[in-house]
Amino acid sequence: MITQTICKTFTFEAAHVVPGHPQCGNIHGHTWRVDVFVKGEVGLHDPNFDYVIDFGELKKVWQPIFDKVDHSLMLQASSDGKPHLLHETKLFALPGERMPTSENLSNYFANAFRDALPALSIWVRVWEGLTSWAESE
Ligand SMILES: [Zn+2]
Repeated sequence: MITQTICKTFTFEAAHVVPGHPQCGNIHGHTWRVDVFVKGEVGLHDPNFDYVIDFGELKKVWQPIFDKVDHSLMLQASSDGKPHLLHETKLFALPGERMPTSENLSNYFANAFRDALPALSIWVRVWEGLTSWAESE
């Protein structure tokens, strides 16, 4: 038998806050990457296949976790089970009660640059995670 290590990578999007931390005490988001390593003998888990484990089995374990954390705000629970208050959090709201979408953020940032530098042609692209962006016109 040969012992080998395999890895399955998952990603999810979520915001979190670390109460009391000068920077991370503010709600902020990340594209989170999760690498799951499994070391074992090839063919031991399932003698019908020459693998350590079917990657699909790891995905089945991951899916319910993903459903809980993806696009969530992850908070620290206090002893009573309720999240810590977010009174320290720096808040930002777009003017005009606009939603904080990539589209509206790119327009807001572009307008700030255009107001400061009116003689220049300026546009802004805002990336939301690693694969999605919006650009101001
Ligand atoms: Zn963070």
